[in-house]
Order: sequence, then C-alpha cells, then structure tokens
Amino acid sequence: QDARPAQNIAVLGATGSIGTATVDVINHLNVVDPQNRWCMRSASGHRNLNCLTQMAQSVQDAPAHLILSDAQAAADYCPPPELANAKVSVGAEALVEAAIDPAIDIVVAAIVGRAGLESTLAAFEHGKRVALANKETLVVAGPLVRERIEKSGAEMLPVDSEHSAIFQCMGTCSSKPKRLILTASGGPFRTWSTDQMDAATPESALAHPTWEMGPKITIDSATMMNKSLEVIEARWLFDLPADKIEVVVHPQSIIHSMVEFEDGSVIAQLSPPDMRLPIQYALTYPRRLPCQSPPLDRTQTWDLSLEPVDRERFPALDLGFEVARVGGTAGSVVNAANEQAVGLFLNGEIRFTDIVQTCRRVLENHSYQSDPSLETLLELDRWARKETLRCCGQIA
Ligand code: NAD
Ligand code: MG
Repeated sequence: QDARPAQNIAVLGATGSIGTATVDVINHLNVVDPQNRWCMRSASGHRNLNCLTQMAQSVQDAPAHLILSDAQAAADYCPPPELANAKVSVGAEALVEAAIDPAIDIVVAAIVGRAGLESTLAAFEHGKRVALANKETLVVAGPLVRERIEKSGAEMLPVDSEHSAIFQCMGTCSSKPKRLILTASGGPFRTWSTDQMDAATPESALAHPTWEMGPKITIDSATMMNKSLEVIEARWLFDLPADKIEVVVHPQSIIHSMVEFEDGSVIAQLSPPDMRLPIQYALTYPRRLPCQSPPLDRTQTWDLSLEPVDRERFPALDLGFEVARVGGTAGSVVNAANEQAVGLFLNGEIRFTDIVQTCRRVLENHSYQSDPSLETLLELDRWARKETLRCCGQIA
C-alpha cells in the first residue's frame, strides 16, 4: 500500500495543447516530488480516442474515469488491458460528474470555449482547486464564478500565462495593485496592415510566432481577441475594474505580464514561452518545484521590447475593454460570436477582419442585461451563434 498523499486530478480536455502539457507535468511531478503521488484520476477527450488512450496510458496510475463526447465512440471503445477497469462515460453531464467527484482534489479546466463552462462552474461550486485554462468560463460568467468561490471556498489558480504571471507578481505585496499590465505577443499579424489582414488565410493566421496552441486560441491571438478575452478574464480573476488593466505588446513572449503597485514599482514575471511552468505552478502552489521548461538563455543578448497596441489595426482590444467594463450579458454574447466567427473563418466562409467586426455587430444587436442568470447567459450564447451566422450571410 502506497502511503504517500495522493493529489487526484481531473484533466478535462486532456487531448488538447494544455491537456497534453498537463499530463507531461503530472509525470514530471512524480519524479521531482516523490513524497506525493500525482494521479490523473479522470480525463476527457471529446472525439480524440487515440490521443485520450495514449494520455491515459502514459501516466503512472491508470485513470479510473474516461469521458468522451460521442455515445457511439464510447460504445465502440476497446480499451487496452491496462485501462480495462476505467469507467467510460459520455457528454457534458459526465464532465460535470468528473469535476465534482469527491475523490478529485484538482480540476484542470482545459476544454476550449463555452463547452468547458458547466464542468468548470461545477468544480468551483464543489470547492475544488481549479487550474483554470478555460478563460471563456470567466468571460461568459465571471460574476457567477466569483459567487460560487465565495460559497464553496474553491481555489482559482490561473493557467493562462499572463494571469499566472500577475498572480505570481501579486504574491510579492499584500496591498491591492494599482494596475495590471498584460503583455501580448501581437500574434502573426503584429506588423501587417489592415489591407493585408483582410486577405489573410487560415494558414497564415495559424502560424503563431512564439506559442504552439490549439487552433481557436491561435486565431484569437492573430485577431488579438485572445488579449481581449484575457482583459475580461483578469477583470474577474483579480476582481479589478477594466480601467486598472492595460495591454502592451511584447513580441518575445518572455515577460508574461506585470503588476504596478501604488508606489510606482512594477514587478514582472519572466520565463520562456512554455505552458508547463504556469500549469505546474497551478498544481503545486504555493510550492515551487523544478520545471521542465528550459531556463532562459542569458549567454545571449536579451532583446526584450515593449510597444503600444495599435487599436486601429486591432479593434478587438476596444471591444474587450468595453465588455470588461459593462459586464452582464456582454461577455457571453461576444464569446459566442467569436467562437462562431472563428469557425467560419477557418472554413473559408468569412474574411479574417470580419471576425471582430461581426462580434461587435452581434454585441450591438443584443439586448443587454446587467445581472443575468446562468440560463439567460446560455440562451444568449445560442442566440449569438445564430446571429453571427445571420450577420455573415450564412442563414436568412
Ligand atoms: P485545444 O484545441 O488544443 O484543446 C481543446 C480540448 O478541449 C481538447 O481536449 C478537446 O478534445 C476538448 N474539446 C473541444 N471541444 C469540446 C467539446 N465540445 N466538448 C468537450 N471537450 C471539447 O485547445 P488548447 O489550446 O489546449 O486550449 C484549451 C483552453 O486553454 C482554451 O480555453 C484556451 O484559451 C486556454 N489556453 C490555452 C493556452 C495554450 O497554450 N494552448 C494558453 C492559455 C490558455
Ligand atoms: Mg494567455
């Protein structure tokens, strides 16, 4: 019998970019932190059965629960012998079930988009430590997340590198910060003109200069909608109004963000662009352990530059600040419109620059409410997806 304390983890979205990096971190923690047993107890994989199996086979203790999105795929699933005892279940309710499982200590919320909402909210409701990659949950339902945390005592640990940086910088001071300064790489079109962006192809938008990520967030980085979502995320994560948040472009992606304090001191967090560091810190906080991400190379000249965002070429930023300011139903509407528009762009149905313009139109076409219920937010999410299709001439 293994007497070490177990850290039981549910990795929701285990087959994605963050999910696979999380599995890597879990395996590494079992090496550098042998006094604990780091266990991926449950894992979800949407439709990617092969990858889910591979992730489940790569960890020391086989997961007890695997979750898929497709009933047929689950029925046909032939697990390898080492996974024969794992329960296989299907759908959004199964994700919630995994998130609230009493055996689970930490939920890694790594599903992309609104699809991660219910399971992430449920984890907060049930007092889990939530390693939060799924920023869309805070964008759609920030106040509801805060409410649930207050009731349950759940912990929200940011995985998004900028928010992890801010969280780490805040740990240096007990006073509230004066300002948060989010850094942005500027994406692949940092130096492109609007005319060039009009004609941008999905291939060029998917070629991110510094980060390797899933397709949706990669397109969001190209439009800079990702930074807008992160402004909204920061607003709810750190409970600060939008006018205390700034964005600055930093193409090297080494300074992950900064915090300015009352006395004018600015604290920054630096590390190579490697998500394994913020993921690991969210799992081990407040402890710091050796990490797999390579150290910064200080034998070369450091070129760390900061430049202002061009809000004309990147109108997503104004939109994001507006949503962060007004709150209410705005986040749900803009998030859904963006998810839908990114899909249309990747399918070649709309131009790159139509993405943000459409989000703005859909926001303006909706009837705003300041204090919506979850049901209202979900209803508006569905409405905004249809409205996006309508605005883009895809439906009448
Ligand atoms: P990804 O596309 O690589 O992976 C997404 C995961 O979600 C996969 O496991 C997929 O199977 C699952 N999924 C997709 N649709 C689903 C659905 N309808 N139902 C259930 N599961 C579904 O995405 P990613 O890059 O890993 O991003 C995940 C989240 O982390 C996003 O919210 C993103 O904004 C955030 N994030 C990612 C990075 C990064 O470096 N990749 C950095 C910061 C934040
Ligand atoms: Mg980020």
